Amino acid sequence: MVNLTMIGTGGNVPSHTRFCSSVLLNYKGVKILIDCGEGTQIAMKKFNCGFKGIDLILISHLHGDHINGLLGLLSTMGNAEKRSPLTIVGPRGIKEAIYAMMVLWEGLPFELRIIENPIGSFSIVGGDALKDVEINTIILDHSTECIGYSLYFNRNRKFSIEKAEANSVPKYIWNHLQKGKTYYINDKLYSPEDVLENERKGIKLSFITDTRPIDSIPEFISDSDLFICEAMYGDDIDISKAVKNKHMTFREAASLASKGNVKRLLLTHFSPSIDNPNDYKSNATSVFKDSEVAVDGMSFTISYPK
Ligand SMILES: [Zn+2]
Ligand SMILES: [Zn+2]
Repeated sequence: MVNLTMIGTGGNVPSHTRFCSSVLLNYKGVKILIDCGEGTQIAMKKFNCGFKGIDLILISHLHGDHINGLLGLLSTMGNAEKRSPLTIVGPRGIKEAIYAMMVLWEGLPFELRIIENPIGSFSIVGGDALKDVEINTIILDHSTECIGYSLYFNRNRKFSIEKAEANSVPKYIWNHLQKGKTYYINDKLYSPEDVLENERKGIKLSFITDTRPIDSIPEFISDSDLFICEAMYGDDIDISKAVKNKHMTFREAASLASKGNVKRLLLTHFSPSIDNPNDYKSNATSVFKDSEVAVDGMSFTISYPK
């Protein structure tokens, strides 16, 4: 299972009710941060999220409401005795942006790995838990280069004593086969297939912000257990603003969720002009029933599908 906390749900600028865009995932003790707008570390403190375990930060684009919080957060992570490597992934220009910040960091006490402009699917080498996570990217349609992410958390297959015995697998290699090794013993090949039950479905989470609703998104987010999507404007009347500023309305986000056949939609990245995003919720639920409006500090667990 994956625990998720909405650190900030505001678009453009922080307000007195909403911090800027950021989502924190906790998977087997490893933390993954998606976007890091101004004030992210303050919000994380407010919501009692520790800094030390963050091993991966995915940045969608280089607008301030998605990246300005990195400067303070990384300093604090260093002070919080983080020593394991940190990987930061982002669009073209992310290296230059981080190198500029480095002038003010005076040497971080952990290794910084930067992946710029990744294309397609990849995994992060590092902590044990991160190897289970397959990351996918999509190029979005925003006023600057912008990446959408999906994360697939693979689920380990169960060990089957019945299968191991039926395949006459020697007991002393059961544990090794379960860990993925293969063995030749007396000219016979033993593989993990001989002791493991069928594949089990993992968890798919998708993050799309900021963008217009382009045709490639539904397939990219297809069958997500949770789809987190920007919804800058609640009122349908603001569609012209959405087109001009390369954002979406609640209705457009919900339409993507419907086309992508996701299980749940969580709307976020609200315009500072919206006082209460829930006032516009029906514009989303009328298109996609399982739409929810995120609030700062909202935290929940996503379990493996049955
Ligand atoms: Zn934004
Ligand atoms: Zn933006």
